[in-house]
Amino acid sequence: MHSDLIKPFAAEYAEYLKDESRSVGACQYVAFPRSHDEALEVLRTAYDQDLPVTIQGGRTGLAAGAVPSGGLIVNTSRMDQVLGMSVRDGLYHLRLQPGVILSRLRKDIESRRLDTAGWDAGSLQALEAFKKDKAQFFTPDPTETSALLGGMTACNASGARSYKYGPVRGHIHALRVILPTGHPLTLERGRVRAKGRRMELVCDDGFALCLDLPTFRMPDTKNASGYYIHDDMDAVDLFIGSDGTLGLITELEIILRPMPGAVWGVTCFFASEDQAVDFVTAARPALGADAAAFEYFDPHALDILRSQRANNPAFAALPVIDPAYGCAVYTELHCTDEQAAFDRLMAVGDLMEAAGGCQDHTWVARTDTDRDKLQFFRHAVPESVNMLIDQRRRIDPVITKLGSDMSVPDACLRQVTQMYRQDLAEAGLEYATWGHIGNNHLHVNILPRSADDYSRGKALFARWAEAVTRMGGAVSAEHGVGKLKAPFLTIMYGQKHIDEMRALKLAVDPKGLYGIGNLFSLKGGAAQ
Ligand SMILES: Cc1cc2nc3c(=O)[nH]c(=O)nc-3n(C[C@H](O)[C@H](O)[C@H](O)COP(=O)(O)OP(=O)(O)OC[C@H]3O[C@@H](n4cnc5c(N)ncnc54)[C@H](O)[C@@H]3O)c2cc1C
Repeated sequence: MHSDLIKPFAAEYAEYLKDESRSVGACQYVAFPRSHDEALEVLRTAYDQDLPVTIQGGRTGLAAGAVPSGGLIVNTSRMDQVLGMSVRDGLYHLRLQPGVILSRLRKDIESRRLDTAGWDAGSLQALEAFKKDKAQFFTPDPTETSALLGGMTACNASGARSYKYGPVRGHIHALRVILPTGHPLTLERGRVRAKGRRMELVCDDGFALCLDLPTFRMPDTKNASGYYIHDDMDAVDLFIGSDGTLGLITELEIILRPMPGAVWGVTCFFASEDQAVDFVTAARPALGADAAAFEYFDPHALDILRSQRANNPAFAALPVIDPAYGCAVYTELHCTDEQAAFDRLMAVGDLMEAAGGCQDHTWVARTDTDRDKLQFFRHAVPESVNMLIDQRRRIDPVITKLGSDMSVPDACLRQVTQMYRQDLAEAGLEYATWGHIGNNHLHVNILPRSADDYSRGKALFARWAEAVTRMGGAVSAEHGVGKLKAPFLTIMYGQKHIDEMRALKLAVDPKGLYGIGNLFSLKGGAAQ
């Protein structure tokens, strides 16, 4: 290898062969660049040597996008510097390397203590203003705070608060990307736009690319399925959500927002899922922009938490969940001040009672500490399911996690929840459902007890992908397609549009080296 930064794969790197989807891949080389220039050296070597490249962030992805398919792993976790700060249109922007961890970013912003090594005078001046200003935050919150900012951008991550603030996409101002051909590209929102469905990119070294964009129309729902494409689109948006297939993001400029005056949370318990749907359907228009999140926990998810609390000391801090509670909806209120939050809380109480809930069956969080407890509760659900799957996997290695990530339009929320319930009951599968009910975006997690359960669950997911597509929804709303959901992307867009996406990818990555297996297969179709 012509770069000392590229190391032969060895047993000590075994953990880098997998991500949170529990899929395991293979590779021959690994590299951990620390800077844009080091990444450039690594990627140019890979291009010269025709090495397949898998880019990795925090490997918290659930769709196996960061699981290698041979060749070289480029892990970005050591590119973890905050590079500077600016103020644009009254908002603070932070320039970061992609390996900054979300949990650290949050702490830095909250404490207003940032490592300013290497910052220019303008950044230091912006920091002084930031320190004196009201509290700020980065809104995207994909539950798993060990995600890296580059990974979150590459799969356009969301999370609970995306109900109000939208996914990562709306909070990225600029990107620096190294294309698979080794050309660096700097993009700032508003600077480069497509003309209709044709886009011209000019790299920092003058290398130019003319791209024909696919002709599909994206669904009007929360969506992270395949490339983001629309007429006259901004070039920044092509790379957000591109799942490691169009190049390596080496720098990003994120936008912070002022923290609302009051952030309150309330968990309401209901006897049935239909009541929870009634509540959300009424609460969405009633609470308007003051609702930042609606998160759902079905009866099976609550049972898993009850069992964890009783049997696993790591979950002893979970609150006691009354056996009478059927399912739950967590509503987060972001209001201008405490009086407004109080008024909204009263409105939530009325809406809950109208849907069949009871005032005594609620948990209210008005302080950071109480809200942290509810966050712990939210995070404990997927964590517990992962642990359960790992236990079963040790007995039968074929068993792995089956988690859905589909969204539908508002009008289809009841239809989709009934479909999930009915199909799962008929199939006799064990499962738990939770997630972003405000966006009609629930994660149905099947917990296979055998290889047969696993294949029946997979078949069910494929059927749901068709049904959700008919409803006008998306097969992946936030986790990205990665490798695991690639067949669903074909169901959603059809072969013609997959071929167009492949042609776009090969125009940017002519040797077809990046993110092999992500989104679609490079074999077959018109673009070969
Ligand atoms: C318990 C749990 C809960 C979760 N909840 C949510 C949730 O609520 N919402 C949500 O959106 N997600 C959720 N996730 C999924 C996950 O945390 C997010 O998808 C996260 O954004 C992935 O970031 P990462 O750094 O781990 O990326 P990785 O998993 O390492 O990579 C993801 C993809 O991005 C590509 N990539 C990574 N870095 C770069 C880069 N610098 N340049 C180009 N491509 C790159 C990879 O090749 C891969 O295709 C959850 C995960 C877990 C484990």
